[in-house]
Amino acid sequence: MAVTASLPTLPENVARPRGMFVGAYRGLVNLLRLGLTDDGETLRDPAATLEGIIPRHVLRRLLAALQFRDPGTIRHGRRVAILAVALAEHLGWEGRQLKVLEVSALLHDIGKIGVPDTILYKPAKLSEDELELMSLHYGIVLDVLQACRVDREVLQIVCQSQVVCNGVDALKSLNYAPHLGARILAVADAYESLSGARTYRGSRHHDEIMDILKEGIGRKFDGNIVTALSRYVNLRGLPFADHVEELDDTLRRHGPESIDDLHDVNELCHIFSNLYILESLYDGFFILDADYRVRCWNRGVETMLGYPLLDMYGQPWSSRLMTDGSEAHEDGQSYESAPLMEQALQAGQPVVAQMVMTRTDGRKLDVEAQAIPLFDDQGRLLGVLQILRDLTRSGRRRSGEIAELKLAASRDALTSLSNRGELESQLSTLVIDYSRDQTRPFCIIFADADHFKNINDTHGHGVGDQVLIDLARLLEQETYSGELVGRYGGEEFVILCPDTALEEGVRRAERIRHAIELSHVGGIKSLRVTSSFGVSQSEPGDTVEKVLRRADQALYKAKHSGRNRTCSMMVNEKSQAQTSEAAATAPTDAEFTFETSFSANVPNDLIVYKLSGFIHDHDAHLVEVTTARVVLRAGQTGLFGFWGSQPKHQPVEIEMNFDDRAAKPVSGRKAAPMANFQVRVKPQGWILKSDIFKHRAFLIAQELKHYFAGA
Ligand code: GH3
Ligand code: MG
Ligand code: MG
Repeated sequence: MAVTASLPTLPENVARPRGMFVGAYRGLVNLLRLGLTDDGETLRDPAATLEGIIPRHVLRRLLAALQFRDPGTIRHGRRVAILAVALAEHLGWEGRQLKVLEVSALLHDIGKIGVPDTILYKPAKLSEDELELMSLHYGIVLDVLQACRVDREVLQIVCQSQVVCNGVDALKSLNYAPHLGARILAVADAYESLSGARTYRGSRHHDEIMDILKEGIGRKFDGNIVTALSRYVNLRGLPFADHVEELDDTLRRHGPESIDDLHDVNELCHIFSNLYILESLYDGFFILDADYRVRCWNRGVETMLGYPLLDMYGQPWSSRLMTDGSEAHEDGQSYESAPLMEQALQAGQPVVAQMVMTRTDGRKLDVEAQAIPLFDDQGRLLGVLQILRDLTRSGRRRSGEIAELKLAASRDALTSLSNRGELESQLSTLVIDYSRDQTRPFCIIFADADHFKNINDTHGHGVGDQVLIDLARLLEQETYSGELVGRYGGEEFVILCPDTALEEGVRRAERIRHAIELSHVGGIKSLRVTSSFGVSQSEPGDTVEKVLRRADQALYKAKHSGRNRTCSMMVNEKSQAQTSEAAATAPTDAEFTFETSFSANVPNDLIVYKLSGFIHDHDAHLVEVTTARVVLRAGQTGLFGFWGSQPKHQPVEIEMNFDDRAAKPVSGRKAAPMANFQVRVKPQGWILKSDIFKHRAFLIAQELKHYFAGA
């Protein structure tokens, strides 16, 4: 079998968000590696698993990732687990059964890891579209649980508890009574959710919740369990009180502790967000592992073909499931979809075909199927992904509007390229991959339009915007080797090139530079724009920060040696470069320190009091307070200590020194107490552009002034 270690590229005619596939492919490969040892063996060692229920390290990583993404959800999971286990014990369960239920409850909402921030953290009630997207997390948790080979009962409990919650009609689809654990989990989950406050409503009291649960008996909730819950609470009170310390500890315990943990967490977050994309873009998908067993059978394919997930879980692939339409009807025989997968494996490439598939109820479906072989970094085959689109249905599964909403989280609004956050997270993945396999470097290309300000000044901002859009399209058209093109900010673009050495990176940058130079932009015939390029390649020992900084320095070099050119920067070139043009412009401490001073009528002892408003409004915290000095920190770094585009992701340290010498009353006259403030702002975390930092620092200083001006 021809096996290739390079990234397969999807055929051009396949609809997919550009630039996404580098990450998505790796995410799926990593998904298949969950629950495997480094050698690709299934974890069978009992010590490595929690009573054979789930590999311990997988459970730990999943919880760490959830904690990283959404501490509220991990707390919810913990509380649901406590309640469910208490209820089950009350009903006479014991031993391993309780552990199975506990793990199911802990993990039942883990799919939220993949939900984009804009939806997960929305401070208001979600719109209908957003709710629909949010609900994808129910499917994602099942995808992940299957891939990491959890105990079948855990899968069953989580899966059926979702069905139970959907009410009696959904239950009919089960054909059999749901697992008792699923019914307990459904009640415990509903109770815990109702008891917690939401941004759009307050918390509810026990009696109120019990009334709601009782209303749901027979439709959503099992009457025996609701009654058991009622009795339990009357008898012993809610079980959370016994676990207060444990709950407080939950958040501390699960967080990433080292940089390796953080890498793990990052990798997992990618897996989840890629599943989110897959779940939202296609009607169904499934993954077979290298042994041709079903490793993942998603909700979509379950609905499409009628084969229940629980029947398919871990089963050897049965070729009778699908028929190949091209020949199927002529001789009345069923042909398998296996040829499509085999074709893909032999080519080491994705293959697309239209076929007819037969549902369990005999109905035929016209389907577009893509088979994509998944290889690890060593070129070992891990499995095959098959993605399905139902062509029988009129219209897409989701409206274009929703697909857009989903992508918005990772897209730049003006150009629809990847935004800075997406670039940063993909870049950190590349750095991690490179640290594991240094034979395959990647390149970063920075591109910055030359004298762009002049275009705005001469033709207006609207034309300026159009030029940026045109540049974005050009960059997309000129990249076809799996690059990720993004807008870093303003008129700056970044191109991440996986599997690319510096020489090739420079060649690509030059080609793009030339294409830009020759193009008409902004809808004005006479208007041309040029761009300067900086290229760096990953080197051993690199961090995200280092490789970015080199690309940035290379860009400075290009700007200062005349613009409209490409410069590169290698590690050993650094010293030489710093003595040349780049030296004058390489970021220095001064560029990342902002200083200002002002005076205000505020008595010394009221300064900290006055600051409390600022601290509250900026989510800041005090680092140091004396009678002459206050140090504050505001903002939180994004992924890997990066500065984001939101002020709250632009962390700074604010140092204020003040004196009140002027406050002394001047001979008999009562003077207003006047304090002089010396303010110094410095960035925390990693920030590339001093002007971005200076802007944030300037605004902070302005606001500080306002807080004191009202004194
Ligand atoms: P250089 O060759 O040194 O890069 O010069 P420049 O003028 O391109 O660079 P500078 O950083 O001084 O100015 C960038 C300008 O880009 C300033 C800003 O108004 C403009 N800009 C940033 N974002 C947008 C945008 O979204 N739309 C438009 N129309 N202009 C933008
Ligand atoms: Mg510019
Ligand atoms: Mg600029």
